[in-house]
Amino acid sequence: MLRILFLGTGGSLPTRNRNPSAIMINREGELLLFDCGEGTQQQMMRAKTGMKALTSIFVTHFHADHMLGIPGLIQTMSFLGRTEPLKIYGPQRVNEFVKVLTELGYYKLRFEVEAIELVPGELVKRDGYYIQAIETDHSVPSLGYALVEESRRGRFDRDKAIALGVPPGPLFSKLHSGVNVEVNGQLIRSDDVVGQMRPGRKVIYTGDTRPCESILVASSCADVLIHDGTLASDQDEWAKESKHSTAFEAATLAKEAGVSRLVLTHISSRYTDDASPLLREAQAVFENVIIAEDLMEMDLPLKDE
Ligand SMILES: [Zn+2]
Ligand SMILES: [Zn+2]
Repeated sequence: MLRILFLGTGGSLPTRNRNPSAIMINREGELLLFDCGEGTQQQMMRAKTGMKALTSIFVTHFHADHMLGIPGLIQTMSFLGRTEPLKIYGPQRVNEFVKVLTELGYYKLRFEVEAIELVPGELVKRDGYYIQAIETDHSVPSLGYALVEESRRGRFDRDKAIALGVPPGPLFSKLHSGVNVEVNGQLIRSDDVVGQMRPGRKVIYTGDTRPCESILVASSCADVLIHDGTLASDQDEWAKESKHSTAFEAATLAKEAGVSRLVLTHISSRYTDDASPLLREAQAVFENVIIAEDLMEMDLPLKDE
């Protein structure tokens, strides 16, 4: 399973229907949080995600609307008796941030919180996938993140293997793992009974940024690109000055990168009543686009299912 849960989709100012930035990915039961704005723990409660399976928080940058939820969340997890360690990844100064959180001393954590500073291009390798830090272009040190799954082995054609005389059992797993076997003096090739490698899924989250080359490259053929879409094009100058993107710019990048789906997030409070101007200008360039809403869920099935 790979489920994206949009916990907070607002811009710098929270509004009555949008919390500040937080995106959760549930991958095979492991929870990863990308940014953790104020109130994220309550959004997690509303979405019934639980907290125990949260292993890591990836912070894009240290503007308050992206990290203010972390102190409250870790205090709550400690109250609830958490003992599992938590890793917090981010750009430069993440160490200082975590040091203040854990050493100020007014609450005692029962679990370890580890800070890991990342530089653009760096990989965090996990079982079956990795997270890559992406260079972004914002007003303070910042990173975007790509979640990339490893390719999976092709499907094993059981019927064909039996027809070739392979008895069900350990030889099946050998063939499936790429090893050729011999049955009654006859060579059976793994390639004959195992289909093509199946590509994993790829999700990109930019955080706050101007559109830039490194995001374009990282997003190539992604299943989902979650891009800063703070403003509409009539606010072009302000987008440049505040180092955000317009919906049009995000859509242009999505089209060029050949992504399957674009989700615009970090929606400015000026679109509280009506975000349709953002959608309209993005759709004019790239059809498969939506505006993120708080508590919206998106499931990404495996590509051959
Ligand atoms: Zn922001
Ligand atoms: Zn920012």
